[in-house]
Amino acid sequence: MINIQKIREDFPQISAKTDGHEIIYFDNAATTLKPKSVIEAMDTYNSKETANVHRGIHTLSEISTFKYEDTRDQLVKFINAKAREEIIFTKGTTESINLLAYTYGVQNIKKDDEILISYLEHHSNIVPWQILCEKTGAILKVIPVNDKGELEIEEIPKLLSSKTKIVSFNYVSNALGTVNPVKDIIKTIRNKCKAIVHIDAAQASGHMKIDVQDLDCDFLSLSAHKMFGPTGIGLLYGREALLQAMPPFLGGGDMIDTVSFEKTTYNKLPYKFEAGTPNISSTIAWAKSIEYINSLDFDEVYKYENELLDYATQKMIELGGINIIGTAKEKASVISFTMDGLHPHDIASMMNKYHIAIRTGHHCTQPLMKRMNVPATARASFSIYNTKEEIDRFIDALKSIKDIFC
Ligand code: PMP
Repeated sequence: MINIQKIREDFPQISAKTDGHEIIYFDNAATTLKPKSVIEAMDTYNSKETANVHRGIHTLSEISTFKYEDTRDQLVKFINAKAREEIIFTKGTTESINLLAYTYGVQNIKKDDEILISYLEHHSNIVPWQILCEKTGAILKVIPVNDKGELEIEEIPKLLSSKTKIVSFNYVSNALGTVNPVKDIIKTIRNKCKAIVHIDAAQASGHMKIDVQDLDCDFLSLSAHKMFGPTGIGLLYGREALLQAMPPFLGGGDMIDTVSFEKTTYNKLPYKFEAGTPNISSTIAWAKSIEYINSLDFDEVYKYENELLDYATQKMIELGGINIIGTAKEKASVISFTMDGLHPHDIASMMNKYHIAIRTGHHCTQPLMKRMNVPATARASFSIYNTKEEIDRFIDALKSIKDIFC
């Protein structure tokens, strides 16, 4: 059994006060809180163990290099990659997708090739592909969604052909919470064409087990800050043979083997894609968030978060006057909603007055908002440290807002 009270104690921000008030944090889809172990690991690096990685033979550099590379080893296990060469550190999901588009994409995509994404995508899984299409003359195609915010799976085979070279879609929608049947979709793709498949797992990583071999994806991206880790660090997973054949993304220190004015040769994987001094403290601390997640049982996490989702959904329906945007059968703990007669920004700013942090806006999914016929939504997103009592306070606040404005 998960001990929620104990988990809450592990996250200092939960009991910390802002302007004299404890904040109910329901903005976990934007970024998650950090446990003590992550904060301490960053502090240890900055206060006692600062040194650059890969470059020194002094003890401090050895310590930082060891810890930095240990995070990579932890990630290999965390996503069940085959080798550490397959884990490329990036700034996060956005940079990972750009890396893929600018290297694999530019190298392999030609005029009239097709790139398939979905309506559920975050802008970071739309814009890099659009830029690639503009550069190459390739065509961007989009898997539609139904009114519940589920991908129209039956349309996928019709959108695939020998022209499809890249398929990229998310595991979980940040805007609606829809969980996509990733494994089944990848099977469909494999049966129809030879496209490479990239999965945006930014919203999945803190909530469910990710297994790149079981999914059979070619690339996968995620960000540490969505899984109780620090900001500014993430990964691109890629099959080793594909990464091996790709040109480097950024040039500079660490990514080279030899440099002369006549010719430069590149470092081996994964360093070929890691130019310059990396985000060392965040990378080191990320290992602590992985350890933290590993200490929990993913099935229990998912079950508990779904209980929170169902509880909040039910209470919001009972309250009336609330439109839940995104009612997929399979959902992660995200509730997007609007209220009749009130702009989502006003809902969020009123919630702020009740010391409840929720998100408002288009959630970097403008095409999806358009498809769901809303300019924006208010969004509450839950994590493992949230409770039904907090949801009760959220519902009370919604009721007050409704009484005042609607
Ligand atoms: N994809 C999804 C589904 C996301 O939720 C996010 C972050 N909101 C991103 C990509 C981009 O992640 P990052 O900002 O960490 O690069």
